[in-house]
Amino acid sequence: MNLFAAQHPDENAAPVCSAKGCRAPAVWVLAWNNPKLHTPDRRKTWLACEEHREHLSQFLGVRGFLKDVVTLEEWSAADR
Ligand SMILES: [Zn+2]
Repeated sequence: MNLFAAQHPDENAAPVCSAKGCRAPAVWVLAWNNPKLHTPDRRKTWLACEEHREHLSQFLGVRGFLKDVVTLEEWSAADR
């Protein structure tokens, strides 16, 4: 599975946080879905460091997009 390499082609080894300007290593995966753009079973993902998890979760949460927050470790281990 190479989910993150697609987003960061030059950084295969270490996925980084999706927050603007943040280069910290990602610890969390935020799975979200915009019902206006995506079919219900589709999941977009943002990566977050410890610091930005709350901020990014709230951003998605207030819009009703947030589906799941799991650690990167769990996400990678899951069969998707
Ligand atoms: Zn961050």
